[in-house]
Amino acid sequence: MTEWHVITGESEAGGDVTHIIPTEDIREHTLRGDCWCEPRLDYEDRIATHRSADGREQFETGERKPT
Ligand SMILES: [Zn+2]
Repeated sequence: MTEWHVITGESEAGGDVTHIIPTEDIREHTLRGDCWCEPRLDYEDRIATHRSADGREQFETGERKPT
């Protein structure tokens, strides 16, 4: 089962940002908008959705089908 961490961090500009990070990913994520995974940033809601190194979210959204 896919699990995600929801962690509140601080943005570089100050203020809280919620980071959504895949658990037990094969690479560690940083709580920053410039994380290696190029997180999707929602400036209005201040949410940074990180991408997993193993591409697990693509299966969830149906962008990619397991073969
Ligand atoms: Zn990341």
